[in-house]
Amino acid sequence: MSTVPTITLDNGVEIPQLGLGVWQVPDGIVTGVVEAALAAGYRHIDTAAIYGNEEGVGRAIAQSGVPREELFVTTKVWNSDQGYDSTLRAFDKSLGKLGLETVDLYLIHWQSLKQDKYVDTWKAMEQLYADQRVRAIGVSNFHLPALQRLFDETDVRPTVNQIELHPALPQDELRAFHAENDIATEAWSPLASGELIGHPVLKELGGKHGKSAAQVMIRWHLQLGNVVIPKSKTPERIAENIDVFDFVLDNEDMAAIADLETGVRVGDDPDVFN
Ligand code: NDP
Repeated sequence: MSTVPTITLDNGVEIPQLGLGVWQVPDGIVTGVVEAALAAGYRHIDTAAIYGNEEGVGRAIAQSGVPREELFVTTKVWNSDQGYDSTLRAFDKSLGKLGLETVDLYLIHWQSLKQDKYVDTWKAMEQLYADQRVRAIGVSNFHLPALQRLFDETDVRPTVNQIELHPALPQDELRAFHAENDIATEAWSPLASGELIGHPVLKELGGKHGKSAAQVMIRWHLQLGNVVIPKSKTPERIAENIDVFDFVLDNEDMAAIADLETGVRVGDDPDVFN
């Protein structure tokens, strides 16, 4: 069973650098999927209210026997719940579904510029943090202007920005900004939603190291310092994706992966998604 290293967030909380994403895993099967992940050594689960599977995730946690303090659970407030009071209500709902007393990381799912409620939403997140109902608060899909506005108009800085990030979209500018401002970069769709699994360069690098293209991509994220949350509902792949701590990509390998940048997204553009 692999042990995953942690990254220390700017408030001192430790986040396992690799976790399991559960978007598009239906509530009916997510319990078994999370159980497979816990058995393989995962201790970090990334869900969201909109995924509709917080109850199933909670069931897996309750049944697992893994001590709560060993687990890192992230969930997110959905766009339609943005605003101060509605965020507090959405948090209560998520906590109830998960069956937990606290979550480790609560994120604003999208900046949702058109609604322009993210500052009030953030103030509710600050309240939850002050009340010790969440161990850390962060954002997702935020670009520089919205981050800067939170810096200017609120008190607590986001610990994390969870963004689309994979070899085709390495997000160098945001990663540099995060590094300058003590924000951890968390990569969603780290395998480009599966689209880069068959890429010949990644397959070749896999061949060189006796690993798969997916393992090469996950290793690339880890070496860049990203927190990475690959999703799989398949137990063999779940185990494969955490088996990435026994090899190292060299500078040449990292450069070959950097050449795969196309700027093409697999998900929505945060500047227009509401
Ligand atoms: P990923 O980039 O993790 O890719 C998942 C796909 O790759 C699935 O089709 C999966 O198949 C396949 N796959 C996984 N491992 C392997 C492997 N070893 N070999 C071959 N195929 C593999 O995509 P996601 O888009 O799901 O992103 C990951 C997580 O990021 C989400 O689950 C969610 O937690 C988070 N996320 C957050 C967003 C946000 O707005 N904050 C937006 C999107 C995602 P299968 O499951 O069939 O095994």
